Amino acid sequence: MNPVTRTAGIVVIGAGHAGSTLVIELRKLGYEGSVLLLGDEGRVPYQRPPLSKTYLMGASTTEQLTLLSAERMRDLNIEFLADDTVDSIDRTAQTVRLVSGLEISYGQLALTTGGRNRPMSMPGADASNVLPLRTLADADRLRPFWLPGKKLVVIGGGFIGLEAAASANKAGLHITLLEASPHVLSRVTVPEVSRFFERTHRESGVDIRTGAQVTQISHGGQYSEVVLKDGSRLLADCVLTGIGMVPNVELAQEGGLHCDNGIFVDEFARTSDPSIVAAGDCTNHPSAYAGRRLRLESVQNAVDQSRVAAATLVGQRRPYNVVPWFWSDQYDQKFQAVGLSIGYDEKIVRGDLQSRSFSVCYLSAGRLIAVDSVNRVQDHMQARKLIAEKALLDKPRLADVAQKLSDCVS
Ligand SMILES: Cc1cc2nc3c(=O)[nH]c(=O)nc-3n(C[C@H](O)[C@H](O)[C@H](O)COP(=O)(O)OP(=O)(O)OC[C@H]3O[C@@H](n4cnc5c(N)ncnc54)[C@H](O)[C@@H]3O)c2cc1C
Repeated sequence: MNPVTRTAGIVVIGAGHAGSTLVIELRKLGYEGSVLLLGDEGRVPYQRPPLSKTYLMGASTTEQLTLLSAERMRDLNIEFLADDTVDSIDRTAQTVRLVSGLEISYGQLALTTGGRNRPMSMPGADASNVLPLRTLADADRLRPFWLPGKKLVVIGGGFIGLEAAASANKAGLHITLLEASPHVLSRVTVPEVSRFFERTHRESGVDIRTGAQVTQISHGGQYSEVVLKDGSRLLADCVLTGIGMVPNVELAQEGGLHCDNGIFVDEFARTSDPSIVAAGDCTNHPSAYAGRRLRLESVQNAVDQSRVAAATLVGQRRPYNVVPWFWSDQYDQKFQAVGLSIGYDEKIVRGDLQSRSFSVCYLSAGRLIAVDSVNRVQDHMQARKLIAEKALLDKPRLADVAQKLSDCVS
């Protein structure tokens, strides 16, 4: 057995948005013990959202993406290992083992392991110009293709695929975006909003094809060829795969923690082991708002849940009870969603879906449960409060875009 070579009061595995927020929060809450943050990307924690929005086209730098610099970690007295993967957890001994062979003993442990790109399993998907987008390293591999005239095929019409398409479009690439479902964004919004984004992209010159199933990618000539089920073939310098992510739960699972579509936690971010918490994209947590368990992939969830986890680690009890929200930037459109657009019995549109400024309000028994907005930041901000308060709304007022959303409570 290897000797234990390091010890920390709190060890945090995963240096993404959740891990970095958690260690900062520990210090804010007055925790004075030793904190060790473990990352495996070889760099300080950074923000992922700009990768698909500004970074690919060179409009933001690596430094601008930094969430927690080395200097700040020094000031906060946080130890950081940037480039070592945790391989296993021994919960009985309260140790973690890293791929390098290092063994670390912990008092309490936090898992903020996030997720990884869902792999594409089809012939030709393993070529060097077929690339996903989750990490800075992924973005750096894509960046050389972001040149005017290059042909890009995006597989997947979720937020990342659409944002990357918008960014490539601004950079002058020729883009075809393929979505297997009848609409883009079909998992997260209603067809009306999906159609708005499809129209916006088409008007900007992106060839959006829905109901499109890719069967293989062939390589050999000057261009790769993306082959569709209907027999059509698309030429590509580069193929971006945006088909979702899978949560990194294996470490927790092999350590004997309860996992089911994410690491199972309670409203205090506690796992099935009392000395281990988890937060961010990797968790499956109860949501008082939704009345069921959720696994969310958003900055809001990573930040808010890791604050709850930090509170738990210092002995406080702050239940996680936030209405989920999310944003996406495409061209000059700021899309913002608050709440989940499922389980509604009525939807009311404020503004005109043909315009570039509207909100779709989702109601259940007259109460506001979710709002999807495009370029209506005020609606979004007011909706966060109204949804949390389970406000009953006056429907005719709500439909009148001249009324402030906050003035529509009945
Ligand atoms: C391109 C892109 C654009 C996005 N845009 C938006 C947006 O506009 N709005 C929004 O709300 N959200 C957006 N998101 C989602 C958001 O970035 C994520 O929800 C958030 O980053 C999740 O943070 P996390 O810390 O939970 O997980 P992650 O960011 O995945 O961080 C987990 C970290 O843990 C590391 N790790 C995993 N296992 C181990 C191990 N065994 N040992 C050591 N380290 C390990 C991983 O390498 C990673 O660095 C976007 C995501 C991407 C990829």
